[in-house]
Amino acid sequence: SGGLAAPQASTLAPMAPRAPARDALPTMSCIVPSFNEAACLRELLPRLADVLQLHCAHWEILVVDDGSRDDSAEVLRQLSAQPRLSGLKVLRLSRNFGKEAALSAGLVQARGDVVMMLDADLQHDPALIPQFLEAWRRGADMVYAVRRSRDDEGSLKRVGTRLFYSLLNRGARFAVPPDAGDFRLMDRRVVDALLALPERNRFMKGLYAWVGFNTQALPYQPAARAHGHSKFRPLRLAQLALDGLTAFTNWPLRAVSACGILLAVPAMLYGLYLTAMYLIYGHNVSGWTTIVVSLMLFCGLQLVSLGIVGEYVGRIFEEVKGRPLYLVKEQWGQGLEASVTQG
Ligand code: UDP
Ligand code: MG
Repeated sequence: SGGLAAPQASTLAPMAPRAPARDALPTMSCIVPSFNEAACLRELLPRLADVLQLHCAHWEILVVDDGSRDDSAEVLRQLSAQPRLSGLKVLRLSRNFGKEAALSAGLVQARGDVVMMLDADLQHDPALIPQFLEAWRRGADMVYAVRRSRDDEGSLKRVGTRLFYSLLNRGARFAVPPDAGDFRLMDRRVVDALLALPERNRFMKGLYAWVGFNTQALPYQPAARAHGHSKFRPLRLAQLALDGLTAFTNWPLRAVSACGILLAVPAMLYGLYLTAMYLIYGHNVSGWTTIVVSLMLFCGLQLVSLGIVGEYVGRIFEEVKGRPLYLVKEQWGQGLEASVTQG
């Protein structure tokens, strides 16, 4: 017998889907989550459309109005009527569901070869889009913008952010890059992978990292907000951090167990010592301080542990309820799927 065996199709794993060609101009979907950003949208959308017109074969801008209470709807209607914004599509959610849900709503509707996400407040400069496309053309499946510095933020927020990422990335197989936000470009393959994830807790920064693929960072310096103020106040950020930690790590649960063991072993030894003392020297009423202090310590620790376990149980409850991530009350623009609710 001679020659090599004919190559066999792998029976172990399905073939990866063929990547779309990256030499021609791509079709692009831009997702813009927006909550009370009427003034910003008026400025951003024409600028964004101009950039897309130059660098994409076809484009759509999906503005997800996350339950705005200002005149966003009115402004979006006016902008939709402009001929140069013919690719504008609007999804209006039935109330404020949060940025993560708004992004998911946009992802479901996006039809482009590549999907770009950017904030409405002009902190994410549309002029950077060509650089994102260039990185994609050179083979990156996900290109994410990384802040060059956080000098524009308060020191408390910076410390909190650093702590959060070090806790989040503790012992994980994939690392969530710090200083990277939702300003990013994704290939169709990445979008499909994200959409296939079933969980309700959409901590996007974690999900991006979880799906993997070829990723590339693109340094940038966020501009100042064009109008209005940040929607993420400290408490809201803390909630988001807790969502992220409980969705992507379970070391807090292990830490609770470890803490329990660390305390129980010395407590047992001390108990033995006290028993021995009692047997040798007889009745001894001293030790009131020990009792009170240890009682308070252990009660406190138990409550904290219960709280940590409770956080995880709460997440399970959210997942089990299986409610949709968001509801759409109104939508317009060419080619939007009729799905009004999605999860
Ligand atoms: N956003 C949203 N829903 C919310 C909060 C914010 O869609 O509940 C949008 C907001 O309109 C903006 C983006 O998310 O386009 C980022 O929000 P913001 O600029 O307030 O956050 P920061 O830049 O301070 O992190
Ligand atoms: Mg902002």
